[in-house]
This record gives sequence, C-alpha cells and structure tokens, in this order.
Amino acid sequence: MPDAPAHTPPAAAPARRMCVDCKEMTDRPVIVGGVEQNSGPGWIAYACPACAHHYRTADDLGAALVTHTVNCTACAAAGADCATAEALREAHQAAEAEADR
Ligand SMILES: [Zn+2]
Ligand SMILES: [Zn+2]
Repeated sequence: MPDAPAHTPPAAAPARRMCVDCKEMTDRPVIVGGVEQNSGPGWIAYACPACAHHYRTADDLGAALVTHTVNCTACAAAGADCATAEALREAHQAAEAEADR
C-alpha cells in the first residue's frame, strides 16, 4: 500500500500508521525498525508508544527524543513537544516503567 506523499511531511505531523506489535492504528507512530535503501526510505516499521519498547531500549528511545528535539523546528517554534516528540517521550516513559519492574 504505497502512500508516499509527494513531499516529506513535517515532523510535527506523522502519518497514521499501524503498530507492528498490537496491529492497532496509531496517530503517534514511533519508528522501531526498517531498512534504509539507496533510492530512499525503504521498509519502515512503526509501533505505537505503548509498544515501541518491545523493539527499542529506554536508552535508545531517550536518545531519539533528544536527537529529535534538537533538530525539530516544530518543537523549537512551539517550545513544547510536537506529536513526534510526544510519541517518543511516551515510548521512553513506557520503556523505563518496564525496566523498573
Ligand atoms: Zn502497539
Ligand atoms: Zn518535534
């Protein structure tokens, strides 16, 4: 199901994706895996924030959040989390909660 837009959407507006774990549609997908190809983005796996830690560690998700916020113009302009940052933060918190058990 190719749904690649003509131009890259802003980071603040991630598309609705199906979680690879629970198979639910999520408005806040977190990238949990994928294959980069020379010709452009290849297959990318998304998970909802609640499932992302099944595929990525808390450290990894925390680092991704930091990397996102320093590079995201939407986060910088708003001075707050955009949807992508929110998803990463939620995923990170879920991962830490899991690790604390
Ligand atoms: Zn899920
Ligand atoms: Zn952002």
